[in-house]
Amino acid sequence: MKWTQYFIPTQKEAPADAVVPSHQLMIRAGLIRQVVAGAYSYLPLGYRSLRKIEAIVREEMDAAGALELNMPAMHPIELWEQTGRVEAMGDVLVRLGGGSGDDWRSRVVLGPTHEEVITEHARAFVNSYKQLPLTFYQIQTKFRGEARPKSGVLRTREFLMKDAYSFHLAKEEAGGLDETYERMYGAYSTIFGRCGLPYVPVEAESGPIGGDASHEFMVPTDAGEDYLVRAEDGEYRANLERAEVAPLDDKGDGTDQAMAEVHTPGLGTIDEVSNFLKCEPCRMIKTIIYESEGEPIVALVRGDHAVNESKFARAAGVPFVEPASPELITKLTKADVGFAGPVALDARVIADQAVTVMHDAVTGANKTDHHLTGVNPGRDFEIKSSADIRMAVEGDRAPNGSPLVFEKCIEVGHVFKLGTKYSSAMEATCLDQNGRPQPFIMGCYGIGLNRIMAAAIESFHDDRGICWPMAIAPFQAVICALDMREETVVKVAGEVHDQLVAAGVDVLLDDRDARPGFKFKDAELVGFPIRITVGKRGLAEGIAEIQNRRTGDVQKVAPDAVADIVAKMVEDAIREERT
Ligand code: ATP
Ligand code: MG
Repeated sequence: MKWTQYFIPTQKEAPADAVVPSHQLMIRAGLIRQVVAGAYSYLPLGYRSLRKIEAIVREEMDAAGALELNMPAMHPIELWEQTGRVEAMGDVLVRLGGGSGDDWRSRVVLGPTHEEVITEHARAFVNSYKQLPLTFYQIQTKFRGEARPKSGVLRTREFLMKDAYSFHLAKEEAGGLDETYERMYGAYSTIFGRCGLPYVPVEAESGPIGGDASHEFMVPTDAGEDYLVRAEDGEYRANLERAEVAPLDDKGDGTDQAMAEVHTPGLGTIDEVSNFLKCEPCRMIKTIIYESEGEPIVALVRGDHAVNESKFARAAGVPFVEPASPELITKLTKADVGFAGPVALDARVIADQAVTVMHDAVTGANKTDHHLTGVNPGRDFEIKSSADIRMAVEGDRAPNGSPLVFEKCIEVGHVFKLGTKYSSAMEATCLDQNGRPQPFIMGCYGIGLNRIMAAAIESFHDDRGICWPMAIAPFQAVICALDMREETVVKVAGEVHDQLVAAGVDVLLDDRDARPGFKFKDAELVGFPIRITVGKRGLAEGIAEIQNRRTGDVQKVAPDAVADIVAKMVEDAIREERT
């Protein structure tokens, strides 16, 4: 392929709103162009890379025994109503709208994911345990009404996802969910590894979906919006929502004060009370009232900590919790919202383990405009139940005592044991060995293809441009033909190109009539892993140059030796860059 016949609109500058490196470089290298907030065109060079990622994903999904199909982006809203996800998804669910009343548009949504549709297909076609297990996948465009699309293609409203879904009637037994989950986990590791990404699988929160297990595949980078939490000793890691913390030490000095009531007129937030009473938030007890199935459940955390609702729900033994309504709070505390406290509170209370070691704390008095000081847990209110129910923060230790380290990261993939959530809601059943209908036990497995590309660029770039992993580089090599007006240069560069193509190397010949410095800058910006330089001066000495983009190493070799050497470099890189 010749540059002059190709299309690479490189740019010197990135737009001002491009903040993260992958966004800046993808635009500057001519890979993408934004069409509307949160949706991008992939220009030929960008699309080449995306297609290579897609090929890797497809190969590994096929190898893992998943069956490729293709489902539409348009879904009838009825399916989403059956699972209650019209409400659960809220604005993320993109509705066509625009039509009035019963116009078809008002009943169609654009799929953010495909659990509902695939479960409908299983319900329609899979009747017997003998057909199981089954795993389907597709590589397809998803729509999500992300509130803030940002960071280029890392978070968009339209993106390409590989989503897979597995169907079983068993869990641990052969053919059960666990087996497929393991296989998908393995395939994901292979996929991200082949793409050369420094990925880290972490335990993730299953959340309201309530599955038994879930893992996210994270790539550490400052451009990420998630946090990876690791123990310094390497023995523990999880995502922030899941991270468990060790209990804190009791630092009490045995001089517990007497409890006293103070007037705090109109001051209902931690900050307001903290300022007014000159008391640090870490010395306050936050009392947060939730409800689950109509019953109040109260969480106590330190004023500077935040409740982790998933941990809290688990500790409470309920599927999920919701913030209590103001009416319920007022009824329970007999006070305005903002003055709840654990002393003499008649409700089910779970204290965070950090609260159990507090002394002389400040908390709401269950009396409008009043707080209590000198509150000592255990003495002034009984702690019937305590657990780790808060978000981990810097300074915390892992359950094994090792300090926790926080790192920003991007989620590139997610594997999930769904259980029967969707099949039960949609009455998708299958006859078991005893001829009884049972809801499918399901797993789902997603990968963001665009995110793989951006995550690779985040992980591998320098101030001059992209340093692609070989396996997903749009081209593996570029030939910079200097002096295009020199006949020998044109001739030799053309021969080297043809030999490289014959050797199976994906190569682009920069045949533009431009200055060497200009060509080199573009080559570095686009980030071809290997650059071959054919110039008049070199040819006079019988050599061409081969340069490695990542290491900068240069080899000078005879032009007709280039193809073999480069083919070997490509092969080695694909093997060595595999993580
Ligand atoms: P996030 O927490 O980042 O919003 P998610 O957990 O909602 O992502 P999943 O529903 O697990 O995402 O989707 C599977 C994969 O799809 C993610 O691991 C990610 O790689 C990709 N993905 C999700 N949302 C987006 C998006 N808005 N833009 C690009 N890729 C996305
Ligand atoms: Mg996810």
